[in-house]
Amino acid sequence: MTNDKIYMDYASSTPVDPIVLEAMLPYFCEIYGNASNIHSFGRTSREGIEKAREQVAGLIGAEAGEIIFTSGGTEADNIGIIGYLQGSRKEGTHIMTSTIEHPAVLRTFQYLEKKGYEVTYIPVDSEGIIDIDEYKASFRENTSLVSIIFGNNEIGVVQDIKELARIAHEHGAVLHTDAVQAYGKIPINAKEMGIDLLSLSGHKIYAPKGIGALYISKGLRVSRINHGGSHERGLRSGTENVPSIVGLGKAAELAGQRMAEDGAREMKMRDHLFDEILAKIPDTHINGHRTKRLPNNVNIRFAHIEGEAILLNLDYYGIAVTTGSACSSASLDPSHVMLAIGLTAEEAHGSMRLTLGHQTTDEEVERVLEVLPGVIEKLRKMSPLG
Ligand SMILES: *Cc1c(COP(=O)(O)O)cnc(C)c1O
Repeated sequence: MTNDKIYMDYASSTPVDPIVLEAMLPYFCEIYGNASNIHSFGRTSREGIEKAREQVAGLIGAEAGEIIFTSGGTEADNIGIIGYLQGSRKEGTHIMTSTIEHPAVLRTFQYLEKKGYEVTYIPVDSEGIIDIDEYKASFRENTSLVSIIFGNNEIGVVQDIKELARIAHEHGAVLHTDAVQAYGKIPINAKEMGIDLLSLSGHKIYAPKGIGALYISKGLRVSRINHGGSHERGLRSGTENVPSIVGLGKAAELAGQRMAEDGAREMKMRDHLFDEILAKIPDTHINGHRTKRLPNNVNIRFAHIEGEAILLNLDYYGIAVTTGSACSSASLDPSHVMLAIGLTAEEAHGSMRLTLGHQTTDEEVERVLEVLPGVIEKLRKMSPLG
């Protein structure tokens, strides 16, 4: 990365780590056999895949056999939720999710609602935490699945997934969690937390885009939603993307080795950004719970200005941030997550997200703190909202 540009958008995507790339390289031109074949070429590819499966499983205390590779987080969410409902023997047509899900889950639930499922969207409080009483009270006789995001992509809030899973099981339902932002950043033990289904993605943890995985707890019945060969236990047909799978495995291994140190370092920078921005810039508020949040997520709202304008002004200084989520920033609708924590459309639009990563330095953080107050002041002077 060039020195003059500052990337603070690791929640949107991350660079591929050079160590990950190095692990992948042999799988393009040298090891290219189709892993479905039993000749030696195929077997060598298969070995790469199976090693990666162990690495991906290892990071969440799972067994290799509980992991299937997918094309990313979105597909893992779709297979986990739709595949479980299709395969479930239990008579049940009520499903639940939260109001702060990523579109990969939210839109899947909206689709299922159209297909005749009864859906409950569980609200969160003003800090983004699931309302536990409302959650408990929303279960019905026929609730079969709950999907709750582990660490939110916009406001970074981390839910008590262990407790949510325990309650779901009490009511005979399974729990799926979109852990795309949490996997590799905070400790997760799928067994100990009672997670039934968990989605993760490569490009949020320094592996390539277009690869991800779904954890399916042993014995859970999931049926196929795409049709073809019997790859990945028949749940994700299509010749395996071996280089990317190997890359995801390596990235999971690295994340395990780096989690404690990177997490502590990023959390320190995160808290420093919060403290300094709140101290230096008036009429500023944190979006999402201050401490129950991912170590790398900073989300702040500034009264009287447009996040869009902050983004463009910071981009002029070579600083990359987002307003709302990457998914919603192309539209002018306020982010559903911001609305869910009770913000007005105007407050939602005045929000900015900075997400830190392995390469983020203290110098970069200081540079942002140097530039931001002037940008906000200038925009407020110009603002018709002021
Ligand atoms: C990025 C992201 C996804 C989508 O993952 P892809 O690999 O890009 O499909 C899903 N959920 C969350 C929370 C994300 O941050």
